[in-house]
Amino acid sequence: MSGVLAVNPRAASELEWHSEVASLIDHLDLGIVRLGPRLEVARINRAAVRLLQADSERVIGKSLMEMFVDHRVDEAARAAIRDGSATYEITLRSDEDRRVLLRFRRAPADGLWLLLDDVTELRRLQRIRTEFIDNLSHELRTPLTTIRLLTETLTQDVARPGVDVPERVRERILKIDVETGHLAQMVSELLDLSRIEGGAEELHFDNVRIGEVIQAAVERLRTFADRQLVGLETELPDGGLPPVWGDEERLGQVLVNLLHNAVKFSPPSSVVSVSASESNGEVTVAIRDQGVGIAEADLDRIFERFYKVDKARQRGQGGTGLGLAIARHIIESHGGRIWAESEEGRGSVFRFTVPVAGARP
Ligand code: ADP
Repeated sequence: MSGVLAVNPRAASELEWHSEVASLIDHLDLGIVRLGPRLEVARINRAAVRLLQADSERVIGKSLMEMFVDHRVDEAARAAIRDGSATYEITLRSDEDRRVLLRFRRAPADGLWLLLDDVTELRRLQRIRTEFIDNLSHELRTPLTTIRLLTETLTQDVARPGVDVPERVRERILKIDVETGHLAQMVSELLDLSRIEGGAEELHFDNVRIGEVIQAAVERLRTFADRQLVGLETELPDGGLPPVWGDEERLGQVLVNLLHNAVKFSPPSSVVSVSASESNGEVTVAIRDQGVGIAEADLDRIFERFYKVDKARQRGQGGTGLGLAIARHIIESHGGRIWAESEEGRGSVFRFTVPVAGARP
């Protein structure tokens, strides 16, 4: 037997099998609509009728436009005919507004399958989570700022000549100062992430000279790299790069973040290099280091919030595990991709793409 759905042709005739599948489809919670070649409703299951509050007798033959009264749904369906699949999220205005994710898939014969997923509850929970993180970070910020100011003053006080403080106490005050710094950084990154994810932080798109953004980010990291005895190099194409379509400040933030990590995880006397090139309507930027590297199993996970590889190894290095989550969000909002390749003990390469200005509609 090849799988759960394998059928013995003698036990179940083709017809029986079809009616079994039809009844199964009718019992699913997922809304399913079969659209014909002119994007008209050919079949519809019970969940879809319920979700759309449609009249099951009259809905057959109706067009997508008649059902959703939104031309973007029509556009998504046409994109699926062209590309094989497309998704679009919509609010269905009824007695109770529902968020529904529409997933179009090209059918093997002709027309499309449309899957309707009720994501109202999921979106509500996501909103609560974002609001919670946002409120929490706001509440934490004020007392933290006060503690930071106090520890800074304390650090200066004990450093003053003639102040007789045991070395042990001095060290502890310094540690408190460093750790509050990490805490403050974490809270500010949390706020940043929830603002970016919640869509509150709008991106300001314009033509961006990515080469200059790279140079500026490298210069910002120069002092840190010098302190860590790590070399910083840039390799940009001689002919320059075309302008990309993006938010200059946010792209700069991504670069600083990736460069900071690269330097942080590099041994003294090694080199971190940034290169960029253009192909197929996008610019790819690569940040390469000769540092500790990242295990294969962690490579996909490092872009998750709070994910840090081997916490013990990084003790004392600070970091919140949020930097890459923020970077991914920013790059994806630009219509780009971000990923990492690495070999443990030899180094890592982080790459991201941004569309060239004018290359996308
Ligand atoms: P953090 O604030 O901890 O640096 P990030 O989200 O920026 O948070 O990175 C997540 C984790 O990914 C880091 O804690 C580290 O384990 C790993 N990482 C990121 N960049 C590198 C790098 N260049 N080399 C090795 N490990 C890295």
